[in-house]
Amino acid sequence: MTDALLIDHVNLLSPGQALQRDAALRIDAGRIAWAGPSAQAAPAERRFDGRGALCLPGLVNTHNHSPLMIVRGMVEDLGFAPAYTPGIPQGHWLSDEETTLLARLGQMELLLAGCTTVVDYYRKPDALARAALHTGLRAFIGGRVMDANSAALAEGRFERDVALGERTLRDGMDLIERWDGAADGRIRTVHAPHAPDTCSRGLLQEVARLAAADGRPVHTHLAQSELEVAHVHMRECMSPVELLDQLGLLNPRLFAAHGIFMDEADIQRAGRSGMYLCHAPIGNATFGATAPVLALQEAGVRITLCTDTKSADMFETMRMAIVAARVRAQGRFVLDAATVFGWATTGGAEALGLPDLGRLEVGCRADLVLLDPMAPNLVPLVDGVGIAVHAGSAANVRHVFRDGEQLVADGRPTQFDAETVLREAQAVADRLWARARAQ
Ligand SMILES: [Zn+2]
Repeated sequence: MTDALLIDHVNLLSPGQALQRDAALRIDAGRIAWAGPSAQAAPAERRFDGRGALCLPGLVNTHNHSPLMIVRGMVEDLGFAPAYTPGIPQGHWLSDEETTLLARLGQMELLLAGCTTVVDYYRKPDALARAALHTGLRAFIGGRVMDANSAALAEGRFERDVALGERTLRDGMDLIERWDGAADGRIRTVHAPHAPDTCSRGLLQEVARLAAADGRPVHTHLAQSELEVAHVHMRECMSPVELLDQLGLLNPRLFAAHGIFMDEADIQRAGRSGMYLCHAPIGNATFGATAPVLALQEAGVRITLCTDTKSADMFETMRMAIVAARVRAQGRFVLDAATVFGWATTGGAEALGLPDLGRLEVGCRADLVLLDPMAPNLVPLVDGVGIAVHAGSAANVRHVFRDGEQLVADGRPTQFDAETVLREAQAVADRLWARARAQ
C-alpha cells in the first residue's frame, strides 16, 4: 500500500455541491479518505500543494475511437462517413502495432485534457487495451461487433456477412476473456455491437443473450444518421430504438452514442427503458445536427457526454452541449453549466456502473484534475462551475490523478514519454496518408 497523500490549497468543485475554497483532500489507497478545509487537514506522508487550483473530478468520456485521430483535420469538410471516401486512409490498413501507436496518441490527449475514464471502441480492441495499459487511463474497451457488408450498405443494401459477424463476436469475447479486470481492474470491457444498421437482427440477438448472461454493459451507436434509420426501417419495418427494445437491449445496461434521429415515440420508449445516452454535441454539430437530449432526459434517459474522437476537450464538449440545446430550443436558455458538469462526471460514471467515481467526496475514487491557477480565463472564480464550463479549456489542465496516482504533472505525462508517442503516431499517419494518396 502506498503512503497517504494530502492535496491542499485547492478550490474543490464536485457536481451538485457548492465550491469549497481552500480545501484539502486526503487520499489513501486510491480513495478520498478525508475532505475539509486546508487549515484542518492532518499531515500525511506526502503532500501536494494545489496553490489555489480549481480541482474537479476526473472527467468521464463515454464514447471514443482513439485510433481515428489518424484522419483528424482532414475529413471534417468531406461529409458524413468519410471513411468510405477514396484518398482517405482506411481503418483496415492498420496493423496491431499501428493501431496501438495511434490509440496511445488519442488516449494521451484525453489524459492531458483531464479525462481519467474513457470508453474506447474500435477494430483491434486489443490494441486499445494495450494503449490503456501504457497511458494509465481507466478504460472500458469494446470490440466492434458487426456483420454488414459495408460496401453493400453504402449502396443502400443490407448484405449479411456471416463470417464477419462470427469473427467480430469471437474477437469481442476473446477481448473480455483477456482484458476484463486487467491492471488491477482499471481496464474493463463492454459488449459493443456497432450499430442497428450494421448488425443483423440475429447478431444483435446473440449480443443480447451474452449481455443478459454476464451482466456487462452494452455500448453501441444508435440513431446516428438518417441513413441508419432508413436502413433499419427497410429491413425491419421499425426504428432502430424499437429494434433494440424488441431484442431486449434497451435497458439500464445500455449506453448508446448519439441518439439524434429519434421521433417522439422513440424518445418515450428510450426514456422508459432507463438507458444512458452518450451525447456528442461537437460531432453532431459538425454535420449540422443536434440531438434531442433535453426531451430524452425529460423522458427518463440519463445523459453522459463524449468527445467522439473529434477532440479530447470535454470542456468544449460541455459548452457545445449548452450551445446545441439552446439553438435547438430557438434561443431559450434551456441548459445550464451545473447540469452539463454532472453529465461529464457522475452521469458517465453511473452509466459505467461506478457510482463512486465522478465526485470529490469521502469514499470516492481519487480521480481528480487540477486546473492552472494562473490561467486568466479562469478568473474570476465565484461559484466555480460557471467559469469551468463556460470558459474552461483542456489546455488549463495541469495535474491529473487517477486512483490517487499522479499521471500528469505540470501538463506532462509522468508514466511515459510524450515526444515518443507524438513522433510514432505521426510516422504511422505519414505512412497511411502516403498510401491513401497513391491510390
Ligand atoms: Zn462512434
